[in-house]
Amino acid sequence: TMKVGGPADFFVEPRSPEDLAATFRAARECDVPVRILGSGANLLIRDEGVRGAVVRLTHLKRREGLHVDAGYNFARLVHETAAEGLCGLECLAGIPAQVGGAIRMNAGGRHGETAAAVKYVDVMTPDGELRRLSREEVGFRYRGTALGDAVVVAAGFDLRPGEGIRERYEEVLTQKKYSQPLGTHNAGCMFKNPPGGHAGRIIDQCGLKGMRVGNAHVSERHANFIENDGGATAADILLLVEQIQSRAPVPLELEVLVW
Ligand SMILES: Cc1cc2nc3c(=O)[nH]c(=O)nc-3n(C[C@H](O)[C@H](O)[C@H](O)COP(=O)(O)OP(=O)(O)OC[C@H]3O[C@@H](n4cnc5c(N)ncnc54)[C@H](O)[C@@H]3O)c2cc1C
Repeated sequence: TMKVGGPADFFVEPRSPEDLAATFRAARECDVPVRILGSGANLLIRDEGVRGAVVRLTHLKRREGLHVDAGYNFARLVHETAAEGLCGLECLAGIPAQVGGAIRMNAGGRHGETAAAVKYVDVMTPDGELRRLSREEVGFRYRGTALGDAVVVAAGFDLRPGEGIRERYEEVLTQKKYSQPLGTHNAGCMFKNPPGGHAGRIIDQCGLKGMRVGNAHVSERHANFIENDGGATAADILLLVEQIQSRAPVPLELEVLVW
């Protein structure tokens, strides 16, 4: 979503979990590292590109009730379940992701986190074994999990009928549109909130909104977002990240993953 970065050596879109297992087998035989790409909304891909294989679960996109494949569009799931009057995901309105990426990152914000709505997660380990993990076994934490190199292939959500869910969804989405630059090229919040603090507020208080390297700049709308105006490179963005980190009064750890 940042619109930067070079190509991968290999790009694979398995058609089934069996295909995914075959991809892992082939990659192991050829000693090729594998990375899983969701919708790329939390990634900064370096200009040199990615060595090895990038796998995207584009074709695993079925939804059967509250059992949903990892490649399903998460924002769509949140919208659909809110429209169905089901309570649990409406607080995550407007977060761009695939279901697998939302789980892996435990996507969330001030209104809640993905973890709270998850019942189980089906994963495939790199040796091709399929396992169903309970929410506890996933090891959810702030913007992460203990999944390691296991791939999310599907998940079950625990949502109950509730009152005023559609209205709550609209409210969260409106707030998000107002406070974040949703229509631009960015990767969401660049930095994790430090303990007891708020990364966006800290960057804003340092007067860094609008700071620029090349065609990348700190968003005027939300200081924890870096926007690509078009033509920025990953190197521009990484330099801007370094400049922000060197000026902030507390250590700021990247939330965005750099490939
Ligand atoms: C405009 C905007 C607003 C955003 N707002 C928020 C917000 O409010 N809250 C928030 O938390 N985030 C937010 N983000 C960041 C992003 O939406 C989340 O981090 C999201 O969870 C990323 O999901 P993805 O599918 O794009 O994953 P990617 O960015 O593609 O990948 C992220 C990580 O997940 C791994 N991954 C992806 N799919 C799988 C899978 N199937 N199995 C195992 N690992 C997998 C990848 O390997 C990588 O390590 C925002 C981003 C943008 C651009």
